[in-house]
Amino acid sequence: MSIAENLHHVGQAIADAARRAARDPAGVQLLAVSKTFAADAVIAAADADQRAFGENYLQEAVDKIAQVKVLRPDLALEWHFIGPIQSNKTRPVAEHFDWVHAVDREKIARRLSEQRPAQMPPLNICLQVNVSGEDSKSGVAPEELPALAQVVAALPNLRLRGLMAIPEPADDYESQRKPFALLRELQAQLAAQGIVTDTLSMGMSADMAAAIAEGATIVRIGTAIFGKRDYAK
Ligand SMILES: *Cc1c(COP(=O)(O)O)cnc(C)c1O
Repeated sequence: MSIAENLHHVGQAIADAARRAARDPAGVQLLAVSKTFAADAVIAAADADQRAFGENYLQEAVDKIAQVKVLRPDLALEWHFIGPIQSNKTRPVAEHFDWVHAVDREKIARRLSEQRPAQMPPLNICLQVNVSGEDSKSGVAPEELPALAQVVAALPNLRLRGLMAIPEPADDYESQRKPFALLRELQAQLAAQGIVTDTLSMGMSADMAAAIAEGATIVRIGTAIFGKRDYAK
C-alpha cells in the first residue's frame, strides 16, 4: 500500500478510537514518525496532507529537513524531535525543530532555551515521564515531575506543552491503558498546581487506541504509515 493509503487508514483508526472514547477526532493529532525513511517518503506524506513529522536520530533528521526544504520549499512542515537528547547535541535540536518530546532533565531544558535562535518562536516542549517504573531508564520519575515542570515553564525560549511517555509494551488493552491513565493524572496534578498544559504525547502503532481512550492529543505513528524499518535501527 502507498504512504497516502496508509495515512488514510491511520486517520480512520484514530477517528474510530476517538469516537469510541466519546472524543472529537480533531483533538488527536497524528505525528508521522519518519525516522530511517528518506526525504521522498516525507514528501509523499506531505502531499497527502500530513504536516507534522517525528524524528529520533539527530544527524539524519537535520539532513532530511534540509533536503526536504531544497526539494520542496513550498511545504510548511512541523518537525518534532522525539528521540533521547545528549546534552552536547542540544544546539541543532534548538535550531531545527518546532517541538521536542523527550526532555527529562533540567540541564537539557536550560540549554535548549539558551540555544533557541532569537528570531524563532519558542520551542514547544513535552516532558518525558517514566511511567513504567524502574525498568525504563529514560523519563523523569513522577515524583520529580512537578519540580522539573516548574523550571521548564519559566524558561524564556521554551513553551511547556505537556507530557510524553513510552510505556513498556503490553499486549492487552487494559494493561496498555494504565500507564497512559497515569500520565493523564500527572498532567491534571500539574494543572492543579498552576502549570496548565494542552498536550499528551502518547500512543504508537501498537497501543494507539488505548492512548486515545486515556486522552492522547498526539499519537506518534511510524510503521503503520511508512512500513517496517530496517531492523538495525
Ligand atoms: C519509533 C518511535 C515511534 C513510532 O513507532 P511505531 O511503532 O513505528 O509506530 C513513536 N515514538 C517514539 C518515541 C519512537 O521512537
